[in-house]
Amino acid sequence: MRIVVLGGGFAGMEAVRVLERRLHDRSDVEILLISDRNYLLFTPLLPQVASSMVEPRHIVQPLRDIRGSRRFRFRRDTVTDIDFASRRVLMVEGTEAYDRLVIAMGSVVPSFGVPGVEEYALGYKWLEDGIVLRDHLLDAAEHADHEADPAARRQMLTVCVVGGGYTGVELIAELQDFFASYIVPRYRGIDPGDYRLLLVEAGHEILRGVHPTLAERARRKLGREGIEIRTGARVTRVLPGAVEIDGAEQLPAGLTVWAAGVTGHPALAHVAAERDRLGRLVTRATMQLKEHPDVYGAGDAVTIEDNAGASIPIIPAALAQARLAAENIVAELQGRSLGTIHFAPQGMLVSLGERDAVVEVLGLRFSGYAAWLFWNALHLVKLVGFRKQLQVALDWGMAQIFPRDSTIMRPVSRCPVCGRHAAPRTRERDAA
Ligand SMILES: Cc1cc2nc3c(=O)[nH]c(=O)nc-3n(C[C@H](O)[C@H](O)[C@H](O)COP(=O)(O)OP(=O)(O)OC[C@H]3O[C@@H](n4cnc5c(N)ncnc54)[C@H](O)[C@@H]3O)c2cc1C
Repeated sequence: MRIVVLGGGFAGMEAVRVLERRLHDRSDVEILLISDRNYLLFTPLLPQVASSMVEPRHIVQPLRDIRGSRRFRFRRDTVTDIDFASRRVLMVEGTEAYDRLVIAMGSVVPSFGVPGVEEYALGYKWLEDGIVLRDHLLDAAEHADHEADPAARRQMLTVCVVGGGYTGVELIAELQDFFASYIVPRYRGIDPGDYRLLLVEAGHEILRGVHPTLAERARRKLGREGIEIRTGARVTRVLPGAVEIDGAEQLPAGLTVWAAGVTGHPALAHVAAERDRLGRLVTRATMQLKEHPDVYGAGDAVTIEDNAGASIPIIPAALAQARLAAENIVAELQGRSLGTIHFAPQGMLVSLGERDAVVEVLGLRFSGYAAWLFWNALHLVKLVGFRKQLQVALDWGMAQIFPRDSTIMRPVSRCPVCGRHAAPRTRERDAA
């Protein structure tokens, strides 16, 4: 019996963990994990990579370290298709057969067909996005520092974040901290009025799904910090150096970050299975794909039929779905009947930058410094591995004592998001 798990994110790793634990005495069962990245990314801390608060390497855990002495095999490869009829997974570097499959390949950020998103906006999903954004901000600051034209300076230092969900809100709050407490004090050619942060949301409120009192508290806090929030505003085009709102208004922006929702994984777009309007595979309450009982799904890649509450793209939901998928595979092997999903979110935590957050947990709602401490403590505990917990705790502690690190890390001749040259020497070399 061969169980193959696709995706080394929260859902995939949880499925592997449960399968390992429950099948440790079954030497006839082989477990194979396939993922295109060889690490687990702790996404809640990704906004802090952009603001140079935490080191990128500290929020990821190599899959081979997580594996340790466990017996599952790991293959780093990119899944391109699944042939359900012949029970094979197709990858860039070959194929793998399965008897039971768990699809946990996560989601991607949808462009909703808005022109310019693919070309000019930066998605905010993977570790490399955090590194690129951080380097872009520092590079823009280096150029703005000696830019004589105030309008050009402001445009370089304008960041427009599209999407007022928790990712967009947490990211813009981090950027505000970065500009106010790091960039402005250190770059003498940049004044507080030179940077501009915009949060654009097509819906009528930010943080939809968070209790209205907390969402309003977050909105007021961001507004007080000088972040411009535009709700009921639809981005209709992203241009180099600008963003178009409702087909009419063009706002100059040095960078547009696209954090507008989730959609099903493109590698699964052609597989022979039902998808919802967001492109996510539809599972039954048992986490089996509707048409393929030997294939399970979990995490952002799937939606559960008639159960929107248990299908929200957050980590606790991904973990609960993955646990059930793994337990049901074990139940199948043992000839028992399958369980069904019972999941309801227990709360919501949104960081609003340093020393502020809004939290709703088990019906309790609070905000401010206590909420921020709770946010930090919970995320530290949830980080995988003591080493990473220590590294992130040290990053946070050091940030209270020392300035953040402003080294531009990517050795590129051009900034990959705005195309500006990274350094004068390189400009001369490129021109030559
Ligand atoms: C910036 C950000 C902040 C977030 N903050 C929070 C938060 O604070 N709290 C919360 O609950 N949720 C948060 N989320 C949402 C949360 O990260 C997701 O719900 C969760 O990661 C879903 O887990 P998953 O395993 O389904 O997908 P992922 O964690 O995305 O894992 C998918 C895995 O599949 C791999 N993969 C993808 N494509 C392929 C392929 N073709 N071949 C092989 N492998 C592939 C990927 O490399 C990855 O390892 C945040 C998301 C983002 C982007």
